[in-house]
Amino acid sequence: MDYVEVTEHVGYVPGAVNIGVLHNEGMAVLVDTGLDKDNGRKLLRLLEEQGLTLKAIINTHSHADHNGGNNYLVNNTEAQVYAPSIESGIIENPLLEPIYLFHGAYPIRNLHNKFVLAKPSKVDHILEPGKTEIIDLELEIIALPGHSYNQIGVKLDDVLFCADTVFSDRVIDKYRIPVVQDIARHLETLDKLEGIECSLFVPAHTKPTKDIKPLVAKNRETTQSILEDIKELLKEPRTTEEVQMVLGNQYGLDSDVIQQYYLIQMTLMAYLGYLYDTKQAEIKVEENRLQWSLLDG
Ligand SMILES: [Zn+2]
Repeated sequence: MDYVEVTEHVGYVPGAVNIGVLHNEGMAVLVDTGLDKDNGRKLLRLLEEQGLTLKAIINTHSHADHNGGNNYLVNNTEAQVYAPSIESGIIENPLLEPIYLFHGAYPIRNLHNKFVLAKPSKVDHILEPGKTEIIDLELEIIALPGHSYNQIGVKLDDVLFCADTVFSDRVIDKYRIPVVQDIARHLETLDKLEGIECSLFVPAHTKPTKDIKPLVAKNRETTQSILEDIKELLKEPRTTEEVQMVLGNQYGLDSDVIQQYYLIQMTLMAYLGYLYDTKQAEIKVEENRLQWSLLDG
């Protein structure tokens, strides 16, 4: 694990998930903890090497790859855990993630793996957007919902950890339908992100950047082109599964990983729900089959 110092109080650990390290007078706050126990253990060792004591963990959202290291860290340190509401409920009860992926039913065993099911962690404090003081540092918590219901970003010293608001070109080209749980909020968050003045943005899954605008543009374009492609499909009535099949084939997706199937399905439900709620699509249930179709005009 490498450690990159950015400002007097801010550093980060680059990796599959970039982890923020905020520190002051020998005390540290982690922004997210990575996928699993192994990440937790390595992060703790790294803090020790830096002469830092872990005092707190801030989770930007509840996806397992962002809080899977919590359990180890909480069990081996005195760290207090901070997370926004809703996300906190899932971090404390991580089975909720595969439960929602499996439409609320008890999730099949394919969905019991660390990529969608973290080990549980307590959450001591619910974070609200605005200023908050931890280890004598004044942090700004910024609401960045969309990718997940109540995702937040953390800003200190003009550096913003902006979680999964934007994905890289490489990730978008590979996965084609990046996870978003609320399309309307996601689009608002992209607009908001573009307006934030910062000297460095640290997205969780791609390299930090001084200029977030090209990434925002790419992610907005991706969302809009998926919306257009779905609208094209809904010129005739389609079930959710048909939308997933036709769009997936069109995009050349061929993963047979069940968990990937459910993540895409959830994201497409967010798109379909958005089209319905913005009165661009309608729903009909006939002969016990739910179909979406484009609204005229
Ligand atoms: Zn995420």
